[in-house]
Amino acid sequence: MSKHIIVGGGVYGAAVAWHLASRGEAVELIEAGTIASGASGGPGRRGVRANGRDYREIPLMVRARELWPGLHESLGTAPLYETMGQIQLFEREIDLAPAEARAALQNRLGIESRVLSQSEVRELEPDVAPFIRGGLYCPGDGVAFHKTTTLAYADKARQAGAILREGVEAARLVATNGRVTALATTQGEEIPVEGKLMLFCNAGVKDLVAPWIDLPLWSRTFLVAVSAPLVDNPVRHLVGHASRTLSLKREPDGRLMISGGRPGTWDAATRRGTPIQREVDLNVADAVAVYPSLEGLKIETADTDHLEAECIDHIPIIDNLPGNEHVLYAAGWTGHGWAIAPAVAELMRDWVLEGRKPELLEPFAYGRFG
Ligand SMILES: Cc1cc2nc3c(=O)[nH]c(=O)nc-3n(C[C@H](O)[C@H](O)[C@H](O)COP(=O)(O)OP(=O)(O)OC[C@H]3O[C@@H](n4cnc5c(N)ncnc54)[C@H](O)[C@@H]3O)c2cc1C
Repeated sequence: MSKHIIVGGGVYGAAVAWHLASRGEAVELIEAGTIASGASGGPGRRGVRANGRDYREIPLMVRARELWPGLHESLGTAPLYETMGQIQLFEREIDLAPAEARAALQNRLGIESRVLSQSEVRELEPDVAPFIRGGLYCPGDGVAFHKTTTLAYADKARQAGAILREGVEAARLVATNGRVTALATTQGEEIPVEGKLMLFCNAGVKDLVAPWIDLPLWSRTFLVAVSAPLVDNPVRHLVGHASRTLSLKREPDGRLMISGGRPGTWDAATRRGTPIQREVDLNVADAVAVYPSLEGLKIETADTDHLEAECIDHIPIIDNLPGNEHVLYAAGWTGHGWAIAPAVAELMRDWVLEGRKPELLEPFAYGRFG
């Protein structure tokens, strides 16, 4: 049986390794660091949000929403996912029309959505500031434990017979006349590519495929600030904001997670990020502006250690390498690749097993760039 090679031990690598190994396929996964040390790791939980998502990703979210509630049963863990509803707040009149358009499109694509008036927002989120005029609400959205889920996928992959090797970094793809035949590691090993080679190494994909294509991607860290436990956490739902860089999640232990996409700095040599204090202060200031009772909030952890790849048009690129139908890659999730991972991983499995790209993945082809 031809062995498949996967590069990257984030949620995508681990989930696809499990899907393939449990179908009897031979799989070897290499990960430069440890499983879930990239964007799929770090503190808090990740938003599982259809609300405000690019319309091309909504069909993937519809499927992901079917999978998330029972995923822990398939993986043999405690519950990993919680439905809490997502509200994208707005405070400017100009944000009403886009919210209405989004609600209509999301409903048409199968995601229950509605625009909330000022008083309706207050019923769901009583502590928001008086200037919040409304919100776009998706009751079926939720949050999931990302690191635990990724580690659980990896454990299941191992149990199904996949080989997962940590501390092994892919250096380059070895090719003859443009056709990939092996994968060279930084330690000098050459791993022959017999089955499919799947590049799920997120921020590492661009460099590996550079001899073939120049992907319009770049990497950056996102700040996650986590508060000390709050006696009275005012945030009830997964909350975003139409015009502020702000995402708020209530953690089960009463902490508040503040994120939304503010940057940190990144050191490629150590693979570590450093938070920028001004960005932490701005993130907290936005949270306090929207929830005034958070005044005086203490941040215990500011994390920027998890690199993500962003794509120029804010949706991922999922394709095979030109001239190499056996080399698949997926990268450029742009800060929202978590929620759709269970659905995309299933589709990648189908692509490998059936030999043709699933239709739902077509919008993410490299060819969209001309
Ligand atoms: C702070 C933050 C908050 C986020 N919030 C959300 C959210 O609320 N909702 C949402 O949907 N999404 C969110 N995302 C995005 C989501 O987490 C990512 O899109 C998703 O986890 C990407 O998974 P992955 O497996 O592709 O990448 P990763 O988890 O980054 O895994 C890639 C792995 O490849 C390894 N690697 C890299 N180069 C090489 C190499 N050359 N050789 C071997 N291994 C290599 C890395 O070490 C890494 O472990 C967030 C991301 C971040 C960083």
